[in-house]
Amino acid sequence: MENKIWLSSPHMGGNELKYINEAFAENWVAPLGPNVNGFEDDLEQFLGSNVKVAALSAGTAALHLALIECGVQHDDEVICQSMTFSASANPIAYCGAKPVFIDSEPDTWNMCPKALKEAIEDRIKNGKKPKAIIVVHLYGMPAKMDEISAIAEEYQIPVIEDAAEALGSSYKGRGCGTFGRFGILSFNGNKIITTSGGGALVCHTREDKDKAVFLSTQARDNAPHYQHSHIGFNYRMSNIVAGIGRGQMEVLKDRVSARRAMHDFYVEIFKNINGVTVFTEPGNDYYSNHWLSAIIVDPEITGKDRESLRLAFLEDNIESRPLWKPMHLQPVFEKAPYYGTNVSEKLFDNGLCLPSGSNLSDEERVRIAQVITSYFQS
Ligand SMILES: *Cc1c(COP(=O)(O)O)cnc(C)c1O
Repeated sequence: MENKIWLSSPHMGGNELKYINEAFAENWVAPLGPNVNGFEDDLEQFLGSNVKVAALSAGTAALHLALIECGVQHDDEVICQSMTFSASANPIAYCGAKPVFIDSEPDTWNMCPKALKEAIEDRIKNGKKPKAIIVVHLYGMPAKMDEISAIAEEYQIPVIEDAAEALGSSYKGRGCGTFGRFGILSFNGNKIITTSGGGALVCHTREDKDKAVFLSTQARDNAPHYQHSHIGFNYRMSNIVAGIGRGQMEVLKDRVSARRAMHDFYVEIFKNINGVTVFTEPGNDYYSNHWLSAIIVDPEITGKDRESLRLAFLEDNIESRPLWKPMHLQPVFEKAPYYGTNVSEKLFDNGLCLPSGSNLSDEERVRIAQVITSYFQS
């Protein structure tokens, strides 16, 4: 059997261990220390727009704190993009609130502004104005932020940007994660950079960041003894993990270039295969980090389907994966309201994510190309 080719695997830069060794040398083996501060500084500089970043234990934790800071409480409604990973929606349930799911539009595969407006008006008519809007930049592709921000502004509802997959992406030159009242990032093992596991909350004021740090460290009041007037969480990032993050930040730009080159590689392969489209920016306003490259296989034109292509890859020990299954189709969110047509359902039926790692070798690319070519010739 050939070596396994992963969809997306960790890719160390080299200096991660240097930062970890410093932490050991100075005994900063704790959920605070110079690496945590340094990693936050690196992220703030990279994102620009004067953001303040709180490093946390996971992107999911960051979303949870963002919802709390937006005042989401039991029985509130929160709007969420349907086509996403479950981690975008689960924190709504942690708050005892109810998700309202929104379809995608076909250009960016992200939240459809038309369906968003329809949903807000309908929920208000039903007696409940949604407390927040969670928009996702799927696979690194920026959502239609101008349209979405304008609607959010009109109804005065805060936007939380799930940029877990979109560090290094931008819309009209501005970094994904910096548009909303809050943005969240993830450094899980399969993301564009990893800390083995971790996340961050992107804020716009010192107060919002301080509150996130306070809540993530068990909400200790200012007193010599342990005194609490809020429910806290254990969500802060460890100084060891943050050392990995500092090493990864040194190579983030290279990682974005390599992922974008993988996208170009697939564009080249598929340009002569009728009925397959590679997921690409809809215009110059959009700059995707192409965290994952993805394709849509039109069964009518190709006479094939994405599932048999997935199995052909598997036979050669190559991992590929259907697009995210929309949340409104998930058993766990069966009863949640949904607004839209069937854009996300069609994407799920016909879409496939392809190996996209920044660490793939030329030999591995040859293997991938061979599977695709022979599959579409047969
Ligand atoms: C990975 C991911 C998350 C969750 O991040 P974790 O750090 O794994 O908790 C949230 N949303 C999306 C869209 C993701 O891809």
